[in-house]
Amino acid sequence: MAENNLFNVAKEQLERAYEYIEISEDVKKILNSPKEILQVQIPVRMDSGELNIFEGYRVHYNSVLGPTKGGIRFHPQVTPEEVTSLAFWMTFKCAVVDIPFGGGKGGVAVDPKKLSRRELEHLSRNYIRAVYDFIGPDVDIPAPDVYTNERIMGWMADEYNRIIRKITPAVITGKPVSLFGSVGREDATGRGAYYVITEYIKKRGLNPKNLKVAIQGFGNAGYHLARLLHQDGYRIVAVSDSKGGILSEKEDLHPDSLYKMKREKGKLEGVYCEGTVCDLIAHTQITNEELLELDVDILIPAALENQITKANVKNIKARIICEVANGPTSVDADKYLFERGITVLPDILTNAGGVTVSYFEWLQNRAGYYWKESEVHSKLKDIMINAFDKVYKIHTDKKINFRTAAYIHAITRLKSAIEAHGTAEYFRQ
Ligand code: NAD
Repeated sequence: MAENNLFNVAKEQLERAYEYIEISEDVKKILNSPKEILQVQIPVRMDSGELNIFEGYRVHYNSVLGPTKGGIRFHPQVTPEEVTSLAFWMTFKCAVVDIPFGGGKGGVAVDPKKLSRRELEHLSRNYIRAVYDFIGPDVDIPAPDVYTNERIMGWMADEYNRIIRKITPAVITGKPVSLFGSVGREDATGRGAYYVITEYIKKRGLNPKNLKVAIQGFGNAGYHLARLLHQDGYRIVAVSDSKGGILSEKEDLHPDSLYKMKREKGKLEGVYCEGTVCDLIAHTQITNEELLELDVDILIPAALENQITKANVKNIKARIICEVANGPTSVDADKYLFERGITVLPDILTNAGGVTVSYFEWLQNRAGYYWKESEVHSKLKDIMINAFDKVYKIHTDKKINFRTAAYIHAITRLKSAIEAHGTAEYFRQ
């Protein structure tokens, strides 16, 4: 198996979980392949007058538990295989946190950093023109992912409304709060991961103040998680973005100061700010590869998939890996980490906070009634802790890693819904 073939990685994770549960061939056949894949051309008239065609995709992996749900990614490396893998993970993620959605995902192969704001708006609206009859509040509900954000979701929802001539906020989640978004969606992925880490650290009886943390990817998910961990006293010693990272061993990093500088200057700088005054703190520049291999307690990959592989796994020194990105660990690396006693808190559990608050947004849009932030936080916390407890119990009862335990929990739910339609055994009688 090619180690870096993402869909192989995804399916191999499933195969491992099958070993621990009784499961019919019918269920396996349904879970092993995507339901529908749409590939579209997205034409954009560039500011120069030139016409560019971008390749776009939307995948419905499985809808047995409800309408499919999943983000839209704008990235040069988007491929049908990547989007399918991400839709696969969404299927199991929604089942892990027990929300009534199936798994979907979308993407466009584009470097959005090279587009003007006007070109980006055209690309976003034209993506919806190309897929509008493949999505819908009862069919498939997109959301933000890498290099898409709430403004882009606002444009996309607006375009959908224009096409179908109805105001339909529940078609897309992760919208701006002023355009029918939900409070608490912005930091939901980071916050969900924070609840999972907090529960796990409590089970291990560890003190956050003694734990060093490194985060790869200081975007939406990485920043909010860093901020919440820092508030609890965790020591954030390194963070990175696509340009590289910074390490500060003597003085901990301050996520809010880093975020402020990144927004102002477009790059990460080791600073501490009080109000508008920012001072440099002692730090060194590191590469993303170096960040992954730091001697820290908790390593958080929060950027892209395939970061911890056969090539670097032997150099990983962290004791706990919390996967905020989807699919950051290859199958071989996963096996090796388990053998060395390194805990991996898996993506389908850890980063499920985003889709959970997207579900809340969809519910609020359909009811036309909007919740307070405290209500969103407490409901999110309940769902994340409940999912963590169930996965933790399977992990300890069966003495297996958290990833396989999370898959077992998800498959059990998917399996009963698929079997409710009737299985081969039922129809043979
Ligand atoms: P984002 O676009 O806000 O941030 C991505 C960050 O990763 C940026 O800081 C970027 O500079 C950095 N990055 C990009 N390429 C990199 C590289 N090669 N090395 C290091 N850093 C790199 O995206 P996000 O929403 O924070 O998503 C991050 C990850 O979390 C993705 O894998 C995404 O699928 C996953 N995720 C996000 C959500 C969500 O609600 N935002 C939900 C579930 C999972």
